[in-house]
Amino acid sequence: MSNLKIVTRFPPSPTGYLHIGGARTALFNWLFARKNGGKFILRIEDTDVARSTEEATRAIIESLQWLGMDWDEGPFFQSQRYPLYREYVERLLSSGKAYFCCCTPQELEVRRQEAKAKGLKPKYDGRCRNLGLGKAAGSVVRLKSPEVGKTVFQDLVKGSVAFDNAELDDLVLLRSDGTPTYHLAVVIDDITMGVTHVVRGDDHVNNTPRQVMIYQALGEVLPFYAHVPMILGSDRTRLSKRHGATSVLAYRDLGFLPQALLNALVRIGWSYGDQEKFSREELIEKFSLDGVGKSAGIFNMEKLLDMNAQYIRESPASYLADLLVPFLANLGHKDLDRRKVEQAVETLKARSKTLVEMAESSRFYFEEDICYEPKADSKFLKPEVLQLLSEIKVRLQEAGDFSQKGLEETFVHFMEEKQIKLGSIAQPLRVALTGKSASPGLFEVMEILGREKVLERIEKAIEHIRTKT
Ligand code: GLU
Repeated sequence: MSNLKIVTRFPPSPTGYLHIGGARTALFNWLFARKNGGKFILRIEDTDVARSTEEATRAIIESLQWLGMDWDEGPFFQSQRYPLYREYVERLLSSGKAYFCCCTPQELEVRRQEAKAKGLKPKYDGRCRNLGLGKAAGSVVRLKSPEVGKTVFQDLVKGSVAFDNAELDDLVLLRSDGTPTYHLAVVIDDITMGVTHVVRGDDHVNNTPRQVMIYQALGEVLPFYAHVPMILGSDRTRLSKRHGATSVLAYRDLGFLPQALLNALVRIGWSYGDQEKFSREELIEKFSLDGVGKSAGIFNMEKLLDMNAQYIRESPASYLADLLVPFLANLGHKDLDRRKVEQAVETLKARSKTLVEMAESSRFYFEEDICYEPKADSKFLKPEVLQLLSEIKVRLQEAGDFSQKGLEETFVHFMEEKQIKLGSIAQPLRVALTGKSASPGLFEVMEILGREKVLERIEKAIEHIRTKT
């Protein structure tokens, strides 16, 4: 394989969003190309006009971009390549490898039913195969498939795979309206785009002998195939909506970092020793098709969540702030002071599993008026703390240094003087400042809020307690 310039492709049908399975296929192709200095092609398989939409194409492209998978060529659209497919069909017709078939759908249906009734496999019976028919209205073009022997291909994951030719019928290449079938378009595209490796889900294994036959009829060299096992949910049934979100963009909107999802995706069916976490560069360096297992991989949401928390913890605040801005905007916090967002992120990144959670827990930094969580309110904002809150407010008014360090000193003095522990003031103050009984460290919170806001919120809490009594 050393002299071969590797070319892989991702050819989604734009009939819906990009789901986890598709993204994993794209990732394997992308990594394999990047690892080997090859080329990764994006091709939109939009021959099913009724089900293909531009919106789905956009969502697929957005998903790939969000995950950071770049393509070297494309997107190509099969709908724009019909003349090419017809040209190849002409070639097959003139070399006697394909033929016109004028059996109508109704006739085919009747024969299918008859075959079924006799307990035979309902396949095309080859009626027009040797009639030498010319093109006529309503006729289709079929491949003259070998009738005996086996069609064999080597699969990089499954090993040698063989199908009895007697099991397969003469497949349609061109429909009566002149549009290509999936098998034809895929093969002609893969040939003309120079695809060397077809890495795809193993739900396509049964399609492969048919595609191999087209290659052989054209006298073309087969690509390498790698059919990767399907994806299961944690209960070992096929991954579906029952297991949670299945679209890539849904994960973005739930507040996952692209790198966390990428990691989870690559680990479905691929492993590298016991290593669980990989940077992009490491993935490119370490990926190989040899590491793809034969058994179905499991998509584990719990693990993804843990991984996401880890990535959030380790990412720089400036990067997270960029990602957090749209989530804050969704909560109505727009045009925020960038420095403040970064500071808030710094205090929250060790305690957030998703960006949604982070945005939610950062609200108190940006809200004009905070609400108290009812439980925290009744537990900590009690008349007994009125005196302490009033006194600490005065101290904070007078404090020279409102930095974390300065605030800590102010508190140490105050507590020494009052002979109290931080515990007796910390929780009431926390609820006064954040509305919650859990938050980042008090001194960091105060520094970010700034003196004015801190005093205003303590005053508000004092008023609030008074109205309760
Ligand atoms: N358009 C096909 C799909 O979405 C691609 C099949 C292939 O990789 O050949 O499943």
